[in-house]
Amino acid sequence: MQAIAQLRRMLTESRKSLYDRINRLKKEKNVVVLAHYYMSPELQLSTAEGGCADFLGDSLGLSLEAQKTNAENIMFCGVRFMAETALIVSPDKKVFMPDVSSGCSLASSISAKDIIELRKKYPGLPVMGYINTYAETKAELDICCTSRNAVSIAGSLDSDKIIFVPDIFMGQNLKEAISKKYNKDLILWNGTCEVHEQFRNETMNVSDDADVEMLMHWEVPGDTAREQLKIRKGVVGSTGDILNYVKNSNAKKFYLASECDLGESLKKSNADKEFITPCIKCPYMKQNTLEKLLASLESIGTDTEDQYRITLDAHIIERARIPVLKMLQFN
Ligand code: SF4
Repeated sequence: MQAIAQLRRMLTESRKSLYDRINRLKKEKNVVVLAHYYMSPELQLSTAEGGCADFLGDSLGLSLEAQKTNAENIMFCGVRFMAETALIVSPDKKVFMPDVSSGCSLASSISAKDIIELRKKYPGLPVMGYINTYAETKAELDICCTSRNAVSIAGSLDSDKIIFVPDIFMGQNLKEAISKKYNKDLILWNGTCEVHEQFRNETMNVSDDADVEMLMHWEVPGDTAREQLKIRKGVVGSTGDILNYVKNSNAKKFYLASECDLGESLKKSNADKEFITPCIKCPYMKQNTLEKLLASLESIGTDTEDQYRITLDAHIIERARIPVLKMLQFN
């Protein structure tokens, strides 16, 4: 027992010294650290809590922070398409990641060429693309959206048919919401998020307790969302919708059908509530670690910074900015 306690103390001390080094480097090198809700708990901790994240948020919230920061350098703890978006909205900054190879199954499911082909197949229809796409793909879109503003953006487009890419499941869920609210239809692409697609009615082990409420991200399969909401109360929506739903619900127990570490934020801000989290983790998000964050911060301003830096061609930034800035008007 004593040995375990000593080991825990040593781990806490080494973690603290890691945070101290990271926070010193952030100041010295004028860096803001943006962390997505899907980061591991140690990367979600804010500086006020003894950690090192300056902002914790969803894709939209972090894009807005990237746009307004005064820091010279942005360190993005998330996945590559998010860091690219930070560079697109703040092209005069240097954007870094602890691991530039952290991808996304959705972003990889579609290319710029695919959008060009879709336009040929459906001439004249607007193309709305989820933010989970790479910069070259964004450059071909009419408008971007995040899970938070997709419904209102679809409503604003001057067409009763819209091409939505790349998430087929998010598209199925949005289709219902958009048809009900705006009487518009979506044409879908066949991409999926490898985390959220795993939430299937057949395999989800929801408690028998009738009072459990469901928290489902837009990216879960449409059948799952439809069936679960027939049986129980709950929400299907963006990360922000999920956080708000829990805040305003009187329920005491929730089932989270989204990335495992979102559960950490929920538990932290709702200590009186219980969360059942099947704990499916995004392998790409988990490529970010404190040790890699330290190494990437150390590299800034040295010969090795290119290993951690996100760069894009100027003409791609220029073209991708158009759909991204349009999206940011809907926050
Ligand atoms: S959770 Fe899904 S959508 Fe998000 S980065 Fe991972 S694979 Fe991509």
